[in-house]
Amino acid sequence: MVKIFCVANQKGGVGKTTTTVNLAASLAAHKQRVLLVDLDPQGNATMGSGIDKTQCESTLYDVLVDGTAFAEVRVKSAAGYDVLPANRELAGAEIELVNRPQRERQLKNAIATVSAEYDFILIDCPPALSLLTLNGLCCANGVIIPMQCEYFALEGLSDLIDTIKRVHANLNRELQIIGLLRVMFDSRITLQQQVSDQLEQHFGDKVFNTIIPRNVRLAEAPSHGMPGVVFDRNSRGAQAYMQFGVEMIKRIRAK
Ligand code: ATP
Ligand code: MG
Repeated sequence: MVKIFCVANQKGGVGKTTTTVNLAASLAAHKQRVLLVDLDPQGNATMGSGIDKTQCESTLYDVLVDGTAFAEVRVKSAAGYDVLPANRELAGAEIELVNRPQRERQLKNAIATVSAEYDFILIDCPPALSLLTLNGLCCANGVIIPMQCEYFALEGLSDLIDTIKRVHANLNRELQIIGLLRVMFDSRITLQQQVSDQLEQHFGDKVFNTIIPRNVRLAEAPSHGMPGVVFDRNSRGAQAYMQFGVEMIKRIRAK
């Protein structure tokens, strides 16, 4: 059975796209069939997968607004996973969908047509609790929450958890938090270590064992149109994301 996960955090720049792209590449390297859905008009996951968002003939916008077939829009990335690309047009979908019946289920309906072809579908959410993010949450089995171990990160987390609880209660009974992923971690910074300890105390096994270090190779990779795990597979960041892929596969099999 396919597992559909949103990578979400309404806070900007916390490592959602880096996590989605690298987890997709890691899972693909572990022989999993993976589709990455770029649900962010910034199109960073599209570009970071080596697909030029300005050259796409059709994108997720066409799927959501015009009903273009999912299979027609997806593109294969060099890292071995499929991508449903997005660009700035997707921001318009938010407005066009508002008056539709079942506006929050458009992505779910579209994904249903291809989901049997994959082991994992990863959805890169925009930094907002918007209708687009809601579409992601409505079709997902779970949410992966990347976060930096900083003081304000915990504040934002409660809003996100409230939203996930509300979606679970009203729209999608399957939705659960798969786990919190500590990213851009620097163990030399005492505050980060303290927040990391607090997370473990409070959320227990909802905190992934894998910790993604701050690593410049991960930040450099997108400008080369490659996930970090492909760009420099020996870097600490790449190795951490490869390990994260293993942890995800183990968690899914344990269920
Ligand atoms: P947005 O909210 O805008 O969609 P995001 O949550 O998707 O942002 P990213 O784009 O993944 O965040 O990361 C923000 C920046 O931090 C990028 O420049 C990225 O290259 C860099 N970055 C992400 N993870 C790491 C890491 N582990 N080490 C170093 N730099 C990182
Ligand atoms: Mg992003």
